[in-house]
Amino acid sequence: MISSDPSKVTTHCFDRIHIHHQRQLKVARANGAYQFLPHVLNELDTDTIITEIKTSGIRGRGGAGFPTGLKWSFVPRNTGKPTYLLCNADEGEPGTFKDRDIMRFDPHLLIEGMIMAGFALNVHDAYIYIRGEFVHEAMVLNQAIAEAYAANLLGESILGTSFSMNLTVHRGAGAYICGEETALIESLEGRPGRPRFKPPFPAVEGFYQCPTVVNNVETLASIPAILRLGGAWHAAIGTPNNTGMKIFSVSGHVNRPGNYEVPLGTPLKTLIEHHCGGLKHGTIPKAIIPGGSSSMWLMADHYEVPLTFDDIMKAGSMLGSGAIIVMDETANVVQVATRLAHFYAHESCGQCTPCREGTGWLARVLQRIEHGQGTEDDLPVLEQASVHMAGRTICALADGAVAPVLSLIRNFPDEVRSRMMEKAA
Ligand code: SF4
Repeated sequence: MISSDPSKVTTHCFDRIHIHHQRQLKVARANGAYQFLPHVLNELDTDTIITEIKTSGIRGRGGAGFPTGLKWSFVPRNTGKPTYLLCNADEGEPGTFKDRDIMRFDPHLLIEGMIMAGFALNVHDAYIYIRGEFVHEAMVLNQAIAEAYAANLLGESILGTSFSMNLTVHRGAGAYICGEETALIESLEGRPGRPRFKPPFPAVEGFYQCPTVVNNVETLASIPAILRLGGAWHAAIGTPNNTGMKIFSVSGHVNRPGNYEVPLGTPLKTLIEHHCGGLKHGTIPKAIIPGGSSSMWLMADHYEVPLTFDDIMKAGSMLGSGAIIVMDETANVVQVATRLAHFYAHESCGQCTPCREGTGWLARVLQRIEHGQGTEDDLPVLEQASVHMAGRTICALADGAVAPVLSLIRNFPDEVRSRMMEKAA
C-alpha cells in the first residue's frame, strides 16, 4: 500500500497543516490528498478495510479511546436500513483545540477519511456535526466539500465507481453535552441534545434508529494514512495497545502552549519540557489535567508518566481527548475547581437528578469556599456529593463534574482550608 510518490504520503494528521492554502482542493491534491482514494474504492472491500483498521490498533481520539476497528465491526449488515457516519466535530471539552486545526487548515484530510470510512461501512449519507461556535471552520469545511462535489469526490458515483456518498455539515448550538454521541444524534435529529440510555448503542440503533458510527475528527483524519501505509505501519508507532500518533492540546502555565502531535507513549515530562518549553514558574508542576477538564488531576509524582490511554488510567485519570492543562506553583487550584464546577452545572442537561442537583451543589459550595465563607463541614459534603454522583447517571458528564472537585479536596485539602481561613483572618 505504498504510494508511487512517497514524498506526498501524509503520515500524520498535522503533516500538511502548515502548507499555504492547503484548504483548497488543488493545493491539497498537489500535496497528495485523495491520491489513494481510487485504489480504496476500486480494490478494497469492507472486510479488508475493517481488518486493516483493527490491525492498526487505532483507538478513538475523541475521549473514550475505544478501538475504531472494533466499533466499525459492530455495525450490523443487511438490516434493510441505511447506515450513517457522523463525524463528531463538537470539540467542547475545555482544554481541547486540536480538531478545529485539522478542519480549518486541512479539511480535505477529514473529507478523504470520511469517504474511505463511508465506503467501508456502506454509508451513503454522512454528516459532520460541528460546534456552533466554530463559524470559520464550518465555512472552510463547506467550501472544501463544495470543491469535492465539483471534482466528483463526493456525490453520485464517486470517481466513476458504484459508490455514492453525500456529506453535510451541521452546526450545533454550543451545548457541551452534544459532544456525547447519543446527545449529538438527538441534536442532529432536531431535538434538544440529551444523552440516550445505552444500550442500544448507536452502532446498532443510532441516527433515526439506524446503524450509526460516530467518530471523532482526528480519528477519521487518521484513516487515509492507515489505509495507504497499512495497519501494521500504524501499529508500529507508539506502544502496544496504544498505537499511532496523537495530537495533544497543551495549555496553562507552559512557555509554548499549542497543539503537538507526538507518538503515544511520549512521557508527559518530555512533552512539557521539550516541546512546550517547560513551566512558566518553577520546575515541577503543581497539578496537571491530562485529558480535558473532566479528567482527574495528576500530581508531580506522575510527571514522567507515558502518555497512553492505559498508563494514564493506571495513574488514576484518563487520556481523554488529549487536552493537557498545566498548573504551576502560582495556580489557585480552588479557583480552578470552582470555575469548572460552574461550567458543569451550566452544561448539565438536567435529565438525571444526581447530575442536575449535584453539579449545582458542588458549584455553590465551592463558590462559598472561594469567597472565604466555607466551613470545615464543606469538605465531607463535597466528597459525599461527588461519590453519590459518579457512575449513577445516564452519561459521563456527572463523572466529569466530580473529577476536579475530588482532585482538589483529596490533593489540596490544606489549600482549601486556608481559603476558608481567609475570612476568619
Ligand atoms: Fe444529562 Fe447530566 Fe444525566 Fe448526562 S449525567 S444525561 S448531562 S443530567
